[in-house]
Amino acid sequence: MPKFLFRLAANLLQIFEPKLNILIYHRVMPEADPLRPWEIDQQQFRQHMQWISGVFNVIPLSEAVVQLKNGTLKRRSLAITFDDGYLDNATHALPILKELGFHATFFCTSAWLDGGQMWNDKVIESIRLWPEDSLTINELDLKKIPVKSIAEKNNAIELILPKLKYQEPAQRLKIADALANQVSNLPQLMMHPEHIQLLHSEGMEIGGHTHSHPIMAKLNNESLKIEITANKQKLEKITADKIKLFAYPNGKLATDFHNRQIKALASEGYDAAVTTEVGKAHQKSTVYQLPRFTPWDTSSNLFLARLLIR
Ligand SMILES: [Zn+2]
Repeated sequence: MPKFLFRLAANLLQIFEPKLNILIYHRVMPEADPLRPWEIDQQQFRQHMQWISGVFNVIPLSEAVVQLKNGTLKRRSLAITFDDGYLDNATHALPILKELGFHATFFCTSAWLDGGQMWNDKVIESIRLWPEDSLTINELDLKKIPVKSIAEKNNAIELILPKLKYQEPAQRLKIADALANQVSNLPQLMMHPEHIQLLHSEGMEIGGHTHSHPIMAKLNNESLKIEITANKQKLEKITADKIKLFAYPNGKLATDFHNRQIKALASEGYDAAVTTEVGKAHQKSTVYQLPRFTPWDTSSNLFLARLLIR
């Protein structure tokens, strides 16, 4: 379907109430990775950007927040966001954003700025490089899980990650570290301060995402404050700028955050926050619960239609 028809449809659908789509991305990998089939690669990301170009008006999220607050949001507005602070955001997403003249907001954790990686990545990368044909994790009651072929590695990842997710953070990290210690040359996956500075100097916005990506709903007030302020202070020092936007780790209301977390963000000086609830923001949305989603469709028509309808 030609783009002008999508523009027309969007203008009609939003005639009385302009809407804001917020796209969410994590990694933009150099090429497809059989051990991360849920992540998109650079080619797919370029396609997404080309599809929205000419249909939506890509604006900085902070500008959209101001427009939502004062009732001046325009029809077909869209903001682009990235979570976690992966290195490929700077190396593989930034060039495409620049090519198309698009702005994006990058919500960064701060615990891995000097190297290291999140527990789930440690598990995946360890299994990728595992030196033997099988692995055993006594703490999870997993014995001799085969990890030789790609299919076996994928099965092992699908088995281990959900089990680990519900472990206490310290135990989770201990198990992930024990796996990582069995392999050498784990790849560097997260951004270092200079990569965040590069994004910022290219006009992109940096946002907070907690220091170490905990489930915020589970933290007591003291730990909650530390996770928010340590992250904000580190990012403000790196960018020499105010950090005003936040993304909740995991991002589901009730499971991952409640009113207590929203209040904590407001008192630390955050202007707005994004979730992973599916939907579009509009004038009546609360700015501390802005929904986000990216369609998984591989055709431009379905991708654009879903952005308009959901
Ligand atoms: Zn995250």
